[in-house]
Amino acid sequence: MTPACPQCASTLAVLDVLLRRNRWGGAAPRPRPERWWECPACAWVGAQHRDGEPLRTMRRLSGPDENCPFCGEEESSVVGEPWRRPDGELRRWLVCLACGTGNSLRATGD
Ligand SMILES: [Zn+2]
Ligand SMILES: [Zn+2]
Repeated sequence: MTPACPQCASTLAVLDVLLRRNRWGGAAPRPRPERWWECPACAWVGAQHRDGEPLRTMRRLSGPDENCPFCGEEESSVVGEPWRRPDGELRRWLVCLACGTGNSLRATGD
């Protein structure tokens, strides 16, 4: 089932996000557990945790500070909406589309 873009209603395209780090012994990259989609019309990008679940909009980051700290790929990271943990700390979810590394980071600018 292919969802429609939440921004412009175009049909989304599958985005392959593969875990490429720490694949010892020549193991092939494996896909991240989420489904990833991108919009060919408006460049929207997002993830879906399970088939039929709501899409989670991810924002592309740009600029030299947003290069992946793990694989070094430039402007490869996307970030989700921040959420507040039960202890009050604001976190955001950052994923590198090049090497598949996902990170939960403390969000700034609260
Ligand atoms: Zn779109
Ligand atoms: Zn990376």
